Amino acid sequence: MKLSYNEATAMKCSTLEKDLELCEKVGFDFIEIRMDMLRDYLQRHTVDDLKSFFAQSRLKPHAFNAIHDINFCTKAEWDKIVNDFLFLCKVGEKIGNHYVVVVPLDRKEPSGRSEKEIFEDSVEALNKLADIGQDYGMNLGFEPVGNPGCCVRTVRQAWEIVKAVNRDNVGITVDAFNLYLYNKLNNYEDIKMVDRDKLFVAHVDDGDDRPLEELDHKHRCFPGEGVLNLKNYITTLKEMNYDGMVSIETFRPEYWEKDPEWVIKTAYETTKRLLESVGAL
Ligand code: ZN
Repeated sequence: MKLSYNEATAMKCSTLEKDLELCEKVGFDFIEIRMDMLRDYLQRHTVDDLKSFFAQSRLKPHAFNAIHDINFCTKAEWDKIVNDFLFLCKVGEKIGNHYVVVVPLDRKEPSGRSEKEIFEDSVEALNKLADIGQDYGMNLGFEPVGNPGCCVRTVRQAWEIVKAVNRDNVGITVDAFNLYLYNKLNNYEDIKMVDRDKLFVAHVDDGDDRPLEELDHKHRCFPGEGVLNLKNYITTLKEMNYDGMVSIETFRPEYWEKDPEWVIKTAYETTKRLLESVGAL
């Protein structure tokens, strides 16, 4: 597998420029660029600057993060999604970034929609984005999030949607912590129901030991520092013959108070140690 860094991990103490420099230095294979950090970078640089960085570096881009809340949109909400998605498609085509993470509607409270309504709406939304993306060689990784407020909560539900969409450029993003948010699910064998070539993105993250009602993305932490069964997660991917990227993605405020050097070095070392511990590197 390949080691990847997701920019959320140091997003409040770093910039894209700094992340690029540090990820290249510590040895990451891939970086997942955040859309907000990309827009910020483009205040000071051009897309050609980014392209030439990757042309001269070992580090490569993998997936942009993220297009959120694609379900049950008003016209204005959908127009914004299309606008953001087109921006990512155009930059992606130039710099060789061929994936975007796409997240279902995720709110504090459940949407109140039936699974059938969610299925139909997700299929329609993903198809519309896939139509746009295919002109730019862009693939979509649909990412379930396990908390009750998200309308697509499990690998099974996401996979049924992606199978029905049945497009070459629509697949799945898995994320250990997001799946754990579904009733503290700590066995990741369900991922095996996904076709290997439809697994577009894998996020890895540990999590604090807290009651389910309190658990939030801010409780994500580096591999080995929490209670998630990440050896089971990585072993599951390995048993599927997945040899793609595994990307460390936390949103922990405590890390944002540190130097980005510390964050990125620790992210690399803890993720590498996890992958090595199950023979996945
Ligand atoms: Zn994720």
